[in-house]
Amino acid sequence: MLCTTCTGSGAKDKNSVQNCGTCGGSGQVRRVQNTFLGQMQTVTTCPTCNGEGSTVTHKCTACKGDGRVYGEETVTIDIPAGVQEGMQLSLSGKGNAGERGGSAGDLIVLIEEESHPQLHRDGLNVAFDLHISIPDAVFGTQIEVPTIDGRAKIKIPPGTQSGKIFRLKGKGFPNVNSYEKGDQLIQVNVWTPQHVSSAEKDMLEKLQHSENFQPKPDKNDKSFFDKVREMFS
Ligand SMILES: [Zn+2]
Ligand SMILES: [Zn+2]
Repeated sequence: MLCTTCTGSGAKDKNSVQNCGTCGGSGQVRRVQNTFLGQMQTVTTCPTCNGEGSTVTHKCTACKGDGRVYGEETVTIDIPAGVQEGMQLSLSGKGNAGERGGSAGDLIVLIEEESHPQLHRDGLNVAFDLHISIPDAVFGTQIEVPTIDGRAKIKIPPGTQSGKIFRLKGKGFPNVNSYEKGDQLIQVNVWTPQHVSSAEKDMLEKLQHSENFQPKPDKNDKSFFDKVREMFS
């Protein structure tokens, strides 16, 4: 941080800063050399003051002449929507103070994502695993699902198969560099109970050989392989 005692000059007080005697305050020294081509003038950085033009006779005691001290500052920053793990935000001039009033460096903020308990990020898209009961899959239902900015209602039509993917257009992440927006993909999983009571067992046994409960996959239903291909295309 900038030393507040000397406001970055590194000097004890105003009288402790003197014009450099070697260069007269310009920070540069000219040298004239005689060569066989005639006189040649070269300009170099003053070796006494390193180009600063002034020298400090008595150093500031708070910063020992450095013009800056160790310290911490809390800054508030704007995070643009859609940032991703590994991205860096650079805040110019918010880094370490420069030596003796020199310009400050930049603050580099590295983005790390915390994972969501239910939603999974896949680039701009968001994936969500939805579990529904067998009766809900047969009769259809309305269900609320979490989204990145709240909740959304989706309609599960009667006869929904396990593995069906619903797409909520534009409910994904915005692209930080464009107007593009991702989608939320909801995969349906029909929940199979692991334990049943004897009454439930009786009901299921009645359904076991019922004609409507025999699997008859529709040719139009996308296979697992089609879905995988679709998701990566
Ligand atoms: Zn100081
Ligand atoms: Zn000098």
